[in-house]
Amino acid sequence: MNFDFSDEQVMLRKAVRSFVDHEIMPNIGEWDAKGHFDQQTLKKLAGLGLMGVCIPETYGGSGMDYNSLAIVCEELERGDTAFRTAVSVHTGLNSMTLLQWATESQKQKYLVPQARGEKIGAFGLTEPAAGSDVAALQTTATLDGDHYVLNGQKTWISLCDVADHFLVFAYTDKSKKHHGISCFIVERTYEGFSSKATKGKLGIRAGNTGELFFDQMKVPKENLLGDEGDGFKIAMSALDSGRFTVAAGACGQIMACLEASVEYCHERKTFGKEIGKHQLVQQMIAKMEAGLHMSRLLVYRAGALKNKGVRNTRETSLAKWQACDFANQAADDAVQIHGAYGYSNEYPVERYLRNSKAPVIYEGTREIHTIMQAEYVLGYRKDKPLSQMLPAWEG
Ligand SMILES: Cc1cc2nc3c(=O)[nH]c(=O)nc-3n(C[C@H](O)[C@H](O)[C@H](O)COP(=O)(O)OP(=O)(O)OC[C@H]3O[C@@H](n4cnc5c(N)ncnc54)[C@H](O)[C@@H]3O)c2cc1C
Repeated sequence: MNFDFSDEQVMLRKAVRSFVDHEIMPNIGEWDAKGHFDQQTLKKLAGLGLMGVCIPETYGGSGMDYNSLAIVCEELERGDTAFRTAVSVHTGLNSMTLLQWATESQKQKYLVPQARGEKIGAFGLTEPAAGSDVAALQTTATLDGDHYVLNGQKTWISLCDVADHFLVFAYTDKSKKHHGISCFIVERTYEGFSSKATKGKLGIRAGNTGELFFDQMKVPKENLLGDEGDGFKIAMSALDSGRFTVAAGACGQIMACLEASVEYCHERKTFGKEIGKHQLVQQMIAKMEAGLHMSRLLVYRAGALKNKGVRNTRETSLAKWQACDFANQAADDAVQIHGAYGYSNEYPVERYLRNSKAPVIYEGTREIHTIMQAEYVLGYRKDKPLSQMLPAWEG
C-alpha cells in the first residue's frame, strides 16, 4: 500500500485549489443566487487540461491517473457542486465510458475533442418514469436503413443545454427487458433534438439540469456504442466512473464545511468563550474530520483499483454512498454551528446544505447503495469482469 501522493498530484491539487479560490469562490454566491451556469469557467478548466485529466494523451487528455481525477473533483466541489457535477458527467459518465466502450473511430470523433475540452459531453439515462428502475425507461430506437430513429424524453440531465454530445439510452427491443436497451452517441445538432432547463431546484443552482426531447431524431447507425442490447451494461459501468467522481467531490464538500465551521468557531463567542470550546460543537467538527478521512480512503482505494484495471463496482458504490452521506451530514452540522447566520446566504453553508442533497440522490440513491452493499455481503450480488473494462492507467 502506498498512501503518498506523487509530486504531480500535489501540484495538481495546488493548481485546482488556486483556480477555485480565484475563479469560483469570488463569484459563486452571485451565480447561485441568479441560477447562472458559467460556461466560461468550463472553458478555463479545459484550458488547464482538467476536462480530460485521466484520459490518455493519445486521446487528447492529460494522461494522469484516476486518483488525479478524484483530486480535481475534490478541489472543485470545495468551491461548488455545480462544477464538480460538470466534470462528473463530462469526464466520468461520458468520456470514460467512450474510453471503455467506443470503437477507434468513435474515440477519434468524440472522445478526442471532449478530452481536450473543445466539446462537452453529458449522459442521458433518467426519464420521468425511470430513475433507480432503469429498465422502466420508455425511449425507443428503431433501426431504419443506415440510421436509428429515436423517440422519447429524458429528465434531470446535467448540462442539458450546454453539452454538445450525449450518451442516450433507449430500447431497441423492449421484449428483452434490460437486455434490450442500447446506448447511442447523440449530437445536439441532430434534427428532432431539443432541451429545456429545470427551474426551482433546491441546490446546484449554479449548474444546468433539465430535460431532453427526441422527436423522430435520426442517429447514424455507426453511433451505436457497443452492440445492440449492451446499453444496460454500459450504463452501469458508466456509473462506476461517475460515482467515483461524486464520492471524491463529496470529500471537497466536507472540506468546505470544515473550513467555514472552523473559522466561525473561532469568531463566534457564547457564554464567554469561542463556540469551538464547547464540547458539543467540537463533536460536530470531529465528525466532519472523521467523515472526510474515511471518505478519502474509500475513494482512493476505488481509484487504485481503477488504476490497475480491476472491476470496482462494489468499492465505488461503498465510497459514493458513505462519502455523500458524510457530506450531507457535514453540511447540516455546518449550518447548525453557524446558528441563525447559517440559515442565511450571508455565509456559504446554507448553499453547502442545499448542494449536498442531490449527490445523495443521483448516481444511485442512498437506498440503492445500501441494498447493493447488503447484497454483496449476503452473496446475492457478484460482479464478473466486463467484456470491455475501463483501461488501466498506463503511467
Ligand atoms: C441535480 C441532479 C442531476 C442529475 N443528473 C443526471 C444526469 O446527468 N443524467 C441522468 O441520467 N440522471 C441524472 N439525475 C437523475 C438521478 O440519477 C435520479 O434522480 C436518480 O437515479 C433517482 O431516480 P428518481 O429521482 O427517479 O427516484 P426514484 O427511483 O423514483 O426513487 C424514489 C425514492 O424511492 C427509493 N427507492 C427506489 N427504488 C427502491 C428500492 N428498490 N428499494 C428501496 N428504495 C427504493 C429511492 O431511494 C428514493 O428514495 C440527476 C438528478 C439530480 C437531482
